[in-house]
Amino acid sequence: MRHKDRPTGIDTEGLQKSIDRLTSIYRDIAVKADEVTRSRCPYKDAKSRCTAMFGCRHQYFTKDPSAPPVCTGSDKLDYRSAWEV
Ligand code: SF4
Repeated sequence: MRHKDRPTGIDTEGLQKSIDRLTSIYRDIAVKADEVTRSRCPYKDAKSRCTAMFGCRHQYFTKDPSAPPVCTGSDKLDYRSAWEV
């Protein structure tokens, strides 16, 4: 008996369905992420703070020197032309 013919007790059909389902979920997430990154800058965090380590004309620095700058860019614009890199 070859290794691949040995009974394993694993529901291979069920396993394959689970893998296919997970692959489908991850594919949908990747497609959505790709779509969002075309308009939302990847340096903008969930609180609209800028995490970039370079200058950008959309950065607004508050009076708090320890706070990261606020992103004033619109998610509808191409943010890349504002970068100073
Ligand atoms: S300030 Fe500029 S680099 Fe920072 S998150 Fe906004 S668009 Fe991106």
